[in-house]
Amino acid sequence: METVLNSEQRVARAKLAADTRWGKRFDWESSTIDDGLAKLADLRSEAERGGLILQRRMSVERVNDAICYNPDCKRGADGQPMRIDIGSGRFAGSKSRINNDTGIMETAYACSAACYLYLSNNFKHSPATEREPIKEVNPDVVNNEAAVSKI
Ligand SMILES: [Zn+2]
Repeated sequence: METVLNSEQRVARAKLAADTRWGKRFDWESSTIDDGLAKLADLRSEAERGGLILQRRMSVERVNDAICYNPDCKRGADGQPMRIDIGSGRFAGSKSRINNDTGIMETAYACSAACYLYLSNNFKHSPATEREPIKEVNPDVVNNEAAVSKI
């Protein structure tokens, strides 16, 4: 079998892959509600399964050490930022946040109080995307029938 593809073959292969992937997409618009609910239950079950497996893997394959978050930290070997052995618990502090771009939790560690101060000031949640302003509601047109009927 030929393993080296020229550019046209690569493009054709990519198009086939994209068509195949999109062709397998569930048709949410025209399927019956029951089929849609069944498909949604399947997806939720698969997502839960994936979440549990990843959680288990992350606890088994977790990172054992980290570099101090403070770029000016010079407590490590050769004046480099300190390498922290997370399992030993010998670090000044850590902070976690959810990366808005990936949705993945990320944690930073600091080796000393001074580095933790830097960490606290700089490792923050990125600001949430701005929400749409709340539309003003004209009280005269608010549907308040339920309240009126109880009077
Ligand atoms: Zn440090």
